[in-house]
Amino acid sequence: MIKSVWTLFLTILASGATLAQPHFNVLVYHHVATDTPASTTISPERFREHLTLLRDEGFSVVSIEEALAAVRGEGSANLPEKAVVLTFDDAYGNIYDNAFPMLKEFDYPFTIFVATDPVDQGFNEMLTWDELQSLQDWGVTIANHTRDHDYLVRHHPRDDAWLTSVRENIQHAQQRLESELTGDIPKLFAYPYGEYNAALKELLADEGYIGFAQHSGGIYSGSDFHALPRFAAAGIYANPETLLTKLNSHPMPVNYDTVPDMLIHDPTPSMTIEVTRPDDMSRSLNCFINGNWQDAEWENESRFSLAAPDPLSEGRHRFNCTAQARDGDFFYWYSQPWLIQEK
Ligand SMILES: [Zn+2]
Repeated sequence: MIKSVWTLFLTILASGATLAQPHFNVLVYHHVATDTPASTTISPERFREHLTLLRDEGFSVVSIEEALAAVRGEGSANLPEKAVVLTFDDAYGNIYDNAFPMLKEFDYPFTIFVATDPVDQGFNEMLTWDELQSLQDWGVTIANHTRDHDYLVRHHPRDDAWLTSVRENIQHAQQRLESELTGDIPKLFAYPYGEYNAALKELLADEGYIGFAQHSGGIYSGSDFHALPRFAAAGIYANPETLLTKLNSHPMPVNYDTVPDMLIHDPTPSMTIEVTRPDDMSRSLNCFINGNWQDAEWENESRFSLAAPDPLSEGRHRFNCTAQARDGDFFYWYSQPWLIQEK
């Protein structure tokens, strides 16, 4: 017995196999319907295709708390190799009518990030508190998406008074969720429109929240837990084939201390990114600026840079870089979001 275990261990060593680092990908949806804005909508038929794809391709849909605990090394949680988390932002009523029956059928846990004012105001297209309660009773994670879904960074002076008002905004939403619903409300937060800056990340850290944004990529122990990426899965991103490539991708291991802030004032952004395990990936990077291919340069063994060749407009933009794994049929993925604003 002892000998056979030892032999197995030596065999693994000899094969050069390394244990894959625990990681997971998150999908973000808004509407599951046919009569809502195209960019944030997926039809019920397409949504069923996604759930079927996840099942048929061997993905494990896990709860957001379980996935986060596993990559953060908390408790004894183990993460399956192909772990996926499903999230919905804003709390639209069509989640209850169209998505929930299918998610129950597949027995997939999911999370809803709720902006509480529209629910409090009883807007027709939003979930009601009763519906949110029955979702929570089934096991759905209900979390914080501010009270009013305002832009948190743009249109604001970004001074101390602004920071205090954002803090109150987040605290108010958390209190509303806690007082209306009987179950636990974890300290998880999704930035409206995925827009944040360094000061907001600090605020989340200070208040004890984990933060989710809307640039693409996966999550592992080295991620920035106050601006975690999620893959958009609706609108132009709903195609199952491209979604599968993303679902199979691993987070590019980068040193997040070297990553620029999302908010910048220069319309021609550039980044220099330090990769922590450069030997795991091909030297040939595929980088895109707002969907257009752009050459990235390796400055040394582990550092590459990418710059916008022309000025970009005010607002949100994205640099995406992928590199083929040397030891597997998947891509390492890194996405840098930008919010360009005048000072
Ligand atoms: Zn939202």
